Amino acid sequence: NGKEHAAAVPGRVRVAVRLRPRNAEESVADADFADCVELQPELKRLKLRKNNWDADTYEFDEVLTEFSSQKRVYEVVARPVVESVLDGYNGTIMAYGQTGTGKTYTLGRLGEEDNAARGIMVRAMEDILADVSLDTDSVSVSYLQLYMETIQDLLDPANDNITIVEDPKTGDVSLPGASLVDIRDKQSFVELLRLGEAHRFAANTKLNTESSRSHAILMVHVKRSVKGRDAALSSENGNHSHVVKSIKPPLVRKGKLVVVDLAGSERIDKSGSEGHTLEEAKSINLSLSALGKCINALAENSAHVPFRDSKLTRLLRDSFGGTARTSLVITIGPSPRHRGETASTIMFGQRAM
Ligand code: ADP
Ligand code: MG
Repeated sequence: NGKEHAAAVPGRVRVAVRLRPRNAEESVADADFADCVELQPELKRLKLRKNNWDADTYEFDEVLTEFSSQKRVYEVVARPVVESVLDGYNGTIMAYGQTGTGKTYTLGRLGEEDNAARGIMVRAMEDILADVSLDTDSVSVSYLQLYMETIQDLLDPANDNITIVEDPKTGDVSLPGASLVDIRDKQSFVELLRLGEAHRFAANTKLNTESSRSHAILMVHVKRSVKGRDAALSSENGNHSHVVKSIKPPLVRKGKLVVVDLAGSERIDKSGSEGHTLEEAKSINLSLSALGKCINALAENSAHVPFRDSKLTRLLRDSFGGTARTSLVITIGPSPRHRGETASTIMFGQRAM
């Protein structure tokens, strides 16, 4: 309900857990074994089985089951963040979890074969385009991959070493080298996501790595002319509270939405058997562990949030904590075989709260 969503307060990370259904293989191979988790969505609780008679119980801001629709997931995880971006704030939506648990399903599905299946990125853009007026406002996007502390432009793959610039006065983060594409309709956005995905696949084939090792980052910049919007609003509805709220300068109101499909959270093999040296293994994990530290620092209200420790956290600095709204969805699978990874994903989510 609406009240519940309004409770997505700035400065704190809102954490939802989403369980995906068993896949065909798990249904057959693990047919004799119970799921390693049991959900109580109305109590916002999750039980992680320890053995046949005992389980640990955890609470989350939202518990999304294997039956939760993409629409419902969008509404609880993303909509409050999107709305605050439309109001001129920055915000972040992230998915964290083991490879194969549904991060990309949740965030990145285009929904072309089945419109109801479209994910958070497409739904967010629909809501943004429905709210802006493109004669006075603008919506533009960048789409990036972060792998081993290097940022590549997924919209222009030749551009493979993008630098992060922080404005020392405002704290604003920008990527002057990244393509910024104006979006005027949903279809061109979907095309762009598809293009980015193709470039991501090609880049990873060339580097001989898997996309599960990298972070995919979508940035949506919304610039609104306050005057134009309020003029339109006041002619429709003279007493609308938005008018009062937004009448003061600046005349351009900017919000930024960052959507991050994080690298798989599974520990990578440091022995080098996957072809990685120890140095590579450390570097692949660096941004993800730095993110964990920043999330913990925010949850503990610590005066020092170690944003500087990685590219990912430097990039998120102006969209995370402070006045920004942040939503984290942790994705898990039901299989008892992956209980260890599932437990560590749950703990990551718990530490964020
Ligand atoms: P990840 O991005 O975390 O590696 P994916 O999103 O690629 O995982 O999902 C792995 C597989 O599980 C895909 O085949 C996907 O379609 C399926 N899947 C994930 N989440 C769900 C869900 N909630 N309902 C149905 N299938 C799902
Ligand atoms: Mg994925």
